[in-house]
Amino acid sequence: MKENNGTLAQDTWEARDLAHIWHPTSQMKDYEELPPIVVERGKGPWLYDIHGKKYLDIISSWWCNLLGHANPEINAAVKEQIDKLEQVIFSNFSHEPAIRLAEELSRIVPKGLTKFHFNDNGSASIEVALKLAFQYHYQTGHPERQKFMCLSEGYHGETIGALSVGSIDLYAKLYKPMMMDTIHIEAPDCYRCPYGKCRDCCQCECFEHAEKAFEAHAKETAAIILEPLLQGSAGMRVYPPLYLQKMRKLCDETGVLFIADEIATGFGRTGRMFACDHAGVSPDLMTISKGLTGGYLPMAITCVTDQIYDAFYDDYNTGKAFVHGHTYSGNPLACAAGLAVQHILRTQPIFENASVNAKWLTKRMEDELLSHPNVGEVRHIGLIHAFELVADKKTKTPLDPKKRTGYQVYRKALERGLLLRPLGDVLYFNPPLNITQAELDTAVTLAKEALLDVLPK
Ligand SMILES: *Cc1c(COP(=O)(O)O)cnc(C)c1O
Repeated sequence: MKENNGTLAQDTWEARDLAHIWHPTSQMKDYEELPPIVVERGKGPWLYDIHGKKYLDIISSWWCNLLGHANPEINAAVKEQIDKLEQVIFSNFSHEPAIRLAEELSRIVPKGLTKFHFNDNGSASIEVALKLAFQYHYQTGHPERQKFMCLSEGYHGETIGALSVGSIDLYAKLYKPMMMDTIHIEAPDCYRCPYGKCRDCCQCECFEHAEKAFEAHAKETAAIILEPLLQGSAGMRVYPPLYLQKMRKLCDETGVLFIADEIATGFGRTGRMFACDHAGVSPDLMTISKGLTGGYLPMAITCVTDQIYDAFYDDYNTGKAFVHGHTYSGNPLACAAGLAVQHILRTQPIFENASVNAKWLTKRMEDELLSHPNVGEVRHIGLIHAFELVADKKTKTPLDPKKRTGYQVYRKALERGLLLRPLGDVLYFNPPLNITQAELDTAVTLAKEALLDVLPK
């Protein structure tokens, strides 16, 4: 057995973990040097491990913890629901929390999205969006529209369909033979803009790649899927709203459906309720998940327009139903958590405070980090802030990925009590929206110290 290098006593929680658990997105051999951190409890943006050490969770535990750990209002809502109904079949059956959540969502999602298909994780809601788009065309006289378009560097989840419309080699390359054939459009790359423009001074010249792809393939395409304004897993790549407006127009002209994957960007992460709101654009289908339950319980929703819904609505024997469901679709506990999140966002100045703190954080990160010779850029949208490490600032040459510099900074940050997970050599903050300025200040200080541990000036 390779799970323990012998430095861990056999009866520790860490050793017991490694005896049986295969952790996600991990080379398990790395755990020989960095055993799992066994967390006992959380409060706000803080995690406390079983040894009493605390960590500032500046990544919202994989971007989902929207309003802090052990949020009193969400805790109370889940506790109240659990004594009433923990789970029920969602086909032919329903319950108050789901009905009320759907009503609340219908008031905040981009105009035109009216129907909600409940799923139990983000990737599943992507599969649903793809299948709905395909079946929509099939049932409206366009069975030839079978292909999907997506952006390079995109990420939409780990299941086979979601991987097929993703482009990050780290996740997808090996599985190519298992995947469907999709059309990849070169995505905006604002840090290394090939046109020599900047985010605030461009006309999305890079949209020509989309235009070319649509010219060649629109007629055989069911939908395009993209992460609006923020390609998260690609390294928090931020691009301008104009790109979405151009995409909406092109889709309208060609009959290609527009799927906005707002799983990472929804619920205020970009400074507006949804990233599409910055562009005043409504997609035909939209997926939401991460912040939906405040990061409490797994739930995702695929939101669609009446136009799509109506193409499935007919007598049973026409065979037009959407035959897709998951055991835990619409779980009542998850809906109760989602309702509490919506109540907090409606009644407290969460977005207002986050916006003030975001401005402050931008300046603070630029002041503290940009002077470092290996920090190429500090980029940001809403409270999400990222800095990219490069070998040469002028040429923006990346560091040698084999050196795993981002991972080394992550390890040093952990030692110092900051959970700062890397995306390659991009390090980022994506904290709960109600984090305080003092906590953000601590995070910047610790991140800078960790950076200097690995790359002294
Ligand atoms: C996390 C994420 C997904 C996948 O969601 P899971 O719940 O992890 O399956 C899909 N799209 C985007 C943009 C994401 O950030």
